[in-house]
Amino acid sequence: MAKRDYYEILGVDKGASKDEIKKAYRKIAIKYHPDKNPDNKEAEEKFKEAAEAYEVLSNDEKRQRYDRFGHQGVGGAGGYSGGGMNMDDIFSQFGDIFGGGGGSPFDSFFGGGGGGRSRRTRKGTNLRIKLKLTLQEIANGVEKKIKVNRLVVDPNTKFATCSTCQGTGQVRKVMNTMLGQMMSTSTCPTCGGVGQTVDSRSPGTDSSGMKREEDVISVKIPAGVSDGMQLSMSGKGNEVAGGIPGDLLILIEEQPDETLKRDGTNVIYELHVSFIDAALGTEVEVPTVNNRVKIKIEPGTQSGKILRLRGKGIKDIEGYGIGDQLIHVNVWTPKHLSKDERATLESLRDSENFTPNPTKGEKGFFENMKEFFGA
Ligand SMILES: [Zn+2]
Repeated sequence: MAKRDYYEILGVDKGASKDEIKKAYRKIAIKYHPDKNPDNKEAEEKFKEAAEAYEVLSNDEKRQRYDRFGHQGVGGAGGYSGGGMNMDDIFSQFGDIFGGGGGSPFDSFFGGGGGGRSRRTRKGTNLRIKLKLTLQEIANGVEKKIKVNRLVVDPNTKFATCSTCQGTGQVRKVMNTMLGQMMSTSTCPTCGGVGQTVDSRSPGTDSSGMKREEDVISVKIPAGVSDGMQLSMSGKGNEVAGGIPGDLLILIEEQPDETLKRDGTNVIYELHVSFIDAALGTEVEVPTVNNRVKIKIEPGTQSGKILRLRGKGIKDIEGYGIGDQLIHVNVWTPKHLSKDERATLESLRDSENFTPNPTKGEKGFFENMKEFFGA
């Protein structure tokens, strides 16, 4: 493969100043930084290619040679072809590019420390499960035992130090170039970077010496969770040889309640009373999240009235108190009447007391809603 022109790689003119070259490289280095593009071979190549271009163009003498003789002038026929620069060398340039003083901007961008790159810890894959909860469980919080099928390292699996990389997880290649010795480092192809290989394993395990195991995990679900929320249990996912286990991700599913409806931290109950009870007043029992309570219906209660049971709702997940139960009063109008009932009601039809006459104190549905939700 023909090597690309160094100026072209950095996207600068032949006459670019040192500062322009530095700026151009800085941009590319940030874009293709391996920590930002994990397991992206193409990005890694671009990153190395740019580092190589910068290495030459930032040095007056090398740049002169390159301008006169091209790639031949700075690296011989093969030059230092793709991957010629050691990652550590590339990172050591950064102090210069991003203004020294130890802390490069990569510290803040990528959470790394210093110029070098520490070996990444391998992590097992995450396990995902759905967890159905009743309104009562959500309101109070609950401890659940969950069965999971995890990949675990079989205790009988014997590991041996990888003979290809001697346990380092990386293989290095030394190349002699006009710029001196260049070292290229890549992940060990034999062990995949773990530094060990499976020496012996029991039947029923996979080639990595792993097996599936059913585990019962106890999970404390806090009160106030809601549908679609995801809880994460660190380290309860799949194991991986030579690394740390993944996480267990629990997706909350809210089971609809038959009588109560959730509205944030509040719980809504639709109460239907006969117009006789609404007119005469009565006492009724209503379900709440945890039990049943008796409430009083005042004589002359209008349909649409909202009664509040303070603190009978759901705890706020952030700990900001507890919601209420709101009782919507619906006055039930009979759909069928017997002959006697009809006669009784007919005799009341012209009574002044039965003529609607809402006063200011008797708010309609929307006013009630405004009052309760502060709209
Ligand atoms: Zn190896």
